[in-house]
Amino acid sequence: MVRVPGLQDRLAEKKPMIDTPSQQDSDLEALVKALRRFTAERGWQRFHSPKNLAMALGGEAGELLEQLQWLSESESADPDPDRREAIQHEIADVFIYTIMLSDRLGIDLIRAAFEKIALNERKYPAATSGGGPDEHRPRGSAANE
Ligand SMILES: [Mg+2]
Repeated sequence: MVRVPGLQDRLAEKKPMIDTPSQQDSDLEALVKALRRFTAERGWQRFHSPKNLAMALGGEAGELLEQLQWLSESESADPDPDRREAIQHEIADVFIYTIMLSDRLGIDLIRAAFEKIALNERKYPAATSGGGPDEHRPRGSAANE
């Protein structure tokens, strides 16, 4: 387990790792409320177990991949307008299910993301993660498999 200095204290005090602008918090809260309303209006709460939400999230991630598969590197960096809109919609689906799953499990998504960044900063120090042959690479890169 990676130990981040100060992390346990911040968790105990329920303080975020990094102070976030209040606008981000209010935007996320507005999304949570909109998704709760959307779900309640359709009576879909009974389908939204964490397992089902995680499976839906994985499915949407697959739909995002589908939009990018077979494109060249340059095509994926500058998709045509129709493709870009489709990618945008799939990213939104992934984000929505991420929010819904976090909400269902009572996870503070913003706080969790900042904590994960802090953990990754510890795991991959900038001084040794710049791309040299013996330096750290993100998980999943060829050098780390
Ligand atoms: Mg979709």
